[in-house]
Amino acid sequence: MRTLITGGAGFLGSNLCDRFLKEGHEVICMDNLITGNMDNIAHLIGHERFRYINHDVTEYIYVEGELDNILHFASPASPIDYLELPIQTLKVGSLGTHKALGLAKAKGARFLLASTSEVYGDPLIHPQPEEYFGNVSPIGPRGVYDEAKRFAEALVMAYHRYHGVETRIVRIFNTYGPRMRLDDGRVVPAFFSQALKGEPLTIFGDGSQTRSFCFVDDLIEGIYRLLNSDEPEPVNIGNPHEMTIKDFAQKVSELAGVELNVEPRPLPQDDPKVRQPDIAKALRLLGWEPRVPLEEGLKSTMAYFKKKLNL
Ligand code: UDP
Repeated sequence: MRTLITGGAGFLGSNLCDRFLKEGHEVICMDNLITGNMDNIAHLIGHERFRYINHDVTEYIYVEGELDNILHFASPASPIDYLELPIQTLKVGSLGTHKALGLAKAKGARFLLASTSEVYGDPLIHPQPEEYFGNVSPIGPRGVYDEAKRFAEALVMAYHRYHGVETRIVRIFNTYGPRMRLDDGRVVPAFFSQALKGEPLTIFGDGSQTRSFCFVDDLIEGIYRLLNSDEPEPVNIGNPHEMTIKDFAQKVSELAGVELNVEPRPLPQDDPKVRQPDIAKALRLLGWEPRVPLEEGLKSTMAYFKKKLNL
């Protein structure tokens, strides 16, 4: 099996590179390192079944030889990143997905799109099942990511229906774990780096908004099973264990061994008030559900952050 992973030097992409190499695949990792980092794949350089190509997937993609799978994970993915890179975010979700699908069609490869719970926007249905169409502002600051991913899903379904490409769509909910960038602004690295440095935790708004956090190993297992299934329609992969951001701040402080100290910040525009995946479909089709308890996952993530911070 020969597998191309776009965004392969990112948090999820690099974890996928590891997994597919472990499964015996030849892995081609493509990234332009805008938000990805060579540190994430440094341990793979020199592996006989691994190759890294520096390329911006919004431009024509050339890969020689056959390809069995394309996993399209290239995109800025944290609210801070896509606020700073709005045009690149729109381009990689639209033009990048188009190029990657064109390659899948040309090679007869199976294609998997990394989509997101952001397609549900600030949801009015809770928890969110795949049938929910979402509540997204196209013109708000998050619109650049949300609409790019919604367009990407539409394009994937069109290539599936019109060109007969074998496609999969995973809707990824908040995921954390080793190789998350410390400075990507997301709540998990933000709170841990603040707590570990003895700084106050920046809670946005009153902290009553909820998220449901999935450990990366669980997510990767779900994606692997989805790729090997025959389901072309979107499947939620995430951990339904929901908590408020305030409670999450408390948990991080406990694990870091510090008193909870808060620095309130304004709630960003269009920040979803609740989020929890309905994973009934993943359980039914893939026999998948998350296994790693929050505390265990957070401990190993904290160990990674400590190392990165030289603590
Ligand atoms: N958040 C926070 N403090 C931070 C970073 C994030 O309170 O320093 C909140 C944010 O407003 C959101 C939640 O944590 O409600 C998760 O934010 P994140 O950026 O991780 O991802 P999102 O789920 O919003 O895409």
